[in-house]
Amino acid sequence: MRVDALTLDFWRNYPHLQLEFAPGVNVFYGQNAQGKTNLLEALAYLSSARSHRARYDRELITFGVDHGFAAARVWNGSREVELEARLARTGRRQLLANGVRLKTAAELAEHLRTVLFCPEDLFLVKAGGAERRRFFDQHICQLRPRYAVALAEYKRLHEHKTRILRDWPEHPDLLDTLDDFSLRMAQTGAVLIHYRAHFVKRLMEHAPPIHAQCSGGRERLELAYRTVSTVADPLAGSKAIFQGLLEHQQTHRQAELDSRMCLTGPHKDDLDIAIDGQSAKEYASQGQTRTAALALKLGARELFYRDAGQWPVLLLDDVLSELDARRRDFVLERIQGGQVFITCCEEGDFPSARRFHIQDGRAV
Ligand code: ATP
Ligand code: MG
Repeated sequence: MRVDALTLDFWRNYPHLQLEFAPGVNVFYGQNAQGKTNLLEALAYLSSARSHRARYDRELITFGVDHGFAAARVWNGSREVELEARLARTGRRQLLANGVRLKTAAELAEHLRTVLFCPEDLFLVKAGGAERRRFFDQHICQLRPRYAVALAEYKRLHEHKTRILRDWPEHPDLLDTLDDFSLRMAQTGAVLIHYRAHFVKRLMEHAPPIHAQCSGGRERLELAYRTVSTVADPLAGSKAIFQGLLEHQQTHRQAELDSRMCLTGPHKDDLDIAIDGQSAKEYASQGQTRTAALALKLGARELFYRDAGQWPVLLLDDVLSELDARRRDFVLERIQGGQVFITCCEEGDFPSARRFHIQDGRAV
């Protein structure tokens, strides 16, 4: 997959922009706060309708303006497609492919898939489980449209159930619907667990060898998917997972009522990351953390390739400057094959790259 052109209108700090890209390496360079990351964010958005740093779509629209627009001309492996995102400050959003409105955001990923690696990815290893669940969601949503649908449904159910549990002492009639929400959460949750377990299984084939190579063969990376304790085998079918979830719900029903919180379900999942048998979250050094995050991202990229027979578009935000020379060479060697977008402050030494000097919302 590759992006041949990008158009932005009133998107972040870009009043208007039109760029044509190279099929290989593209570099956005310039000083701080000029709009380099905004470009990677726009490309990622056109593959998933999500931003890694905006909570609401309206943050992507230029300050003081009501509508924002981003479009990319992409080659999806078999044909050219024009992807568009039209955002309104009211919250209304339209996603289109060749002028036809898409029903779900997941359909974007049929034409464009991206893997983004940014400095915040160090949190992937060091911060709480929410970051690692976001890692699951970002990637599996692009790989499996059914996952994206289930995730949206699960979030909706979770919000409802949270509200019921929070408010039931003041409004006891809310309890009439509690068990129904729990049941539906178990059904949708089983779908999430099924896909996450398979994603981690496949990631375990790709990320550890990358980590070993990148650490010069000195370190061993291990991954384990951690979900609801009564789900004996998350790789078993959705039916068996569903039974495990029901069992956990039943034993925690009273505790949920007492604590007024939703205590059971895959919204508490995690990914255990260990280096040489020790938890990376607790013990990894800065350098080890960086290598592990890199291995997870490049592992996901590899997995995308195996899935579709094509490389996803790789977005590297400010990460090369943070790596030492050996790891930097490793990355540059490793990413050959697909299209890459790199941001950095200096023009840098990237042979045969197309370079764009970004200055105050313009490419000069
Ligand atoms: P750095 O090198 O520091 O990472 P950058 O070039 O990646 O910088 P960006 O993160 O792309 O910079 O952001 C550039 C600018 O975009 C910031 O000054 C920010 O204030 C501005 N900006 C962010 N959102 C909006 C918006 N909705 N409307 C207008 N400007 C915005
Ligand atoms: Mg930036």
